[in-house]
Amino acid sequence: MKIARIRTHIARLPADEPLADGAGTPGATRDFVVLKITTQDDIEGIGATSFGGPVTNAVKAACDDLGALLIGEDATRVERIADKLRTAAGNAGPGGIFTLVLSAIDMALWDIRGKSLGLPLARLLGGMRDVVPAYASGALMRGQTLDDTIRAGRLLVERGWTAMKTQLALPGDTTPAKEVERIKLLREAIGPDVRLMCDINQRWRVDEAVSIGRRIEPYNLHWLEDVTAADDYAGIAHIRHKITTPIAGGEYVYGLTPFRHMLEACALDFVMIDMFRAGGITQWMKIAGMAEAFNLPVVSHLIPEVHVHLIAAIPNGHIVEYMPWTARLFEDPPMPERGLMKVPRAPGLGLTFSVQIERALNAS
Ligand SMILES: [Mg+2]
Repeated sequence: MKIARIRTHIARLPADEPLADGAGTPGATRDFVVLKITTQDDIEGIGATSFGGPVTNAVKAACDDLGALLIGEDATRVERIADKLRTAAGNAGPGGIFTLVLSAIDMALWDIRGKSLGLPLARLLGGMRDVVPAYASGALMRGQTLDDTIRAGRLLVERGWTAMKTQLALPGDTTPAKEVERIKLLREAIGPDVRLMCDINQRWRVDEAVSIGRRIEPYNLHWLEDVTAADDYAGIAHIRHKITTPIAGGEYVYGLTPFRHMLEACALDFVMIDMFRAGGITQWMKIAGMAEAFNLPVVSHLIPEVHVHLIAAIPNGHIVEYMPWTARLFEDPPMPERGLMKVPRAPGLGLTFSVQIERALNAS
C-alpha cells in the first residue's frame, strides 16, 4: 500500500450555529486544511486539521511540504511515517503546526487502513459500541445575552438533546453573582434531568475558580471544563479538590506527554482529547489507554464525525462533543438524534468530503 499522491486544500466554512438557530458570526469563516492521500492501488484516505485561523496558509504549506515526504511510504506504517516526519521537522514540534499537520495525515492513513481491511474505524480500534451519547456544544456561548442563552437551551431540549454545554467567565463587567445567576437560570430553563456542562476556557484564576465553582455546585453540573490555565496542573488539581463538581480538561495541550503530567497530578475527572492537538488517531488512542489505566472516562473535542469512532471504540469512552463546525466538510455526515450518535458503517472513517471540497481537491 505505497502512497502515490497527496492533495491539500483550504476549506473555509461559514461560522454559523445550526443547533439552536443561533446568530453565529455572520461573514466570518471557520477554516480547515483538508487533504487526501491516495495509494498506488487507488485507496483514498481523507484527513483534516484546524486551529489555523490567520496561520491557515502556513498549515497548508506545512501539509504540502511534509506530505511530499510520504510518497513511496507504506500507508499502514503510521508510526514509521510519524517518526520520519518528526525527524524531518526537527524541533518544529512537538506542538503547534507540526502536530496539526501530523494529525491530518494520521487520520487519512487510518482511513486507508480501514478501507483496505473493509472495517469501520471504530471496529478496527476496538469496537466497544455502535452508538454513543453526544452533547450539544456551541449553542450556549458566553457572548450571548442571558435571554438568548435561555431561549437556546430550551430549544435544544425541545429538539431532543439530553446533554448540552454552556460557558462562564462572561465577557465585560462580570461579577461572581452574575456568573452564578446565569447557571441558575439556565438550569431552571432546561430542567433538572438534562446533563449540563460548563466551559471556562482557561479564563479563571485558581481562587476565582474555587470561589465561583463552590457557589454553582447546587446546579449539578456534569463537569466544569478548563477551569484555569490548561498547563497549570497543580492549580487545576487544587480546584478539583476544593469543589464537588467534576473537572474536565485536556483539549488545549499537544501530544501525549502532557496527559501523563495532568493525570499524575490528579487534575481531571474527565479526560478531554482533541484529535487535532493529540497528533491524530494514533496518539489519541494512546492517551485514551493512559486514561483507562487511571480509571478515568474519555470525552472528545471537536470533529465529532471522527470522534464518534474513537469514543465508540474504547471501553472508557463517555460522550462525544457534538460541535457542528466540521459537518459541512462532509457529504451526509453522521448526525446525533435525541442525544445519540451512530457510528458510520462504511469502511474506514465512513466519510466523504462534500462535492465542493472533492472538486477543489481533485483540481489541486
Ligand atoms: Mg472546551
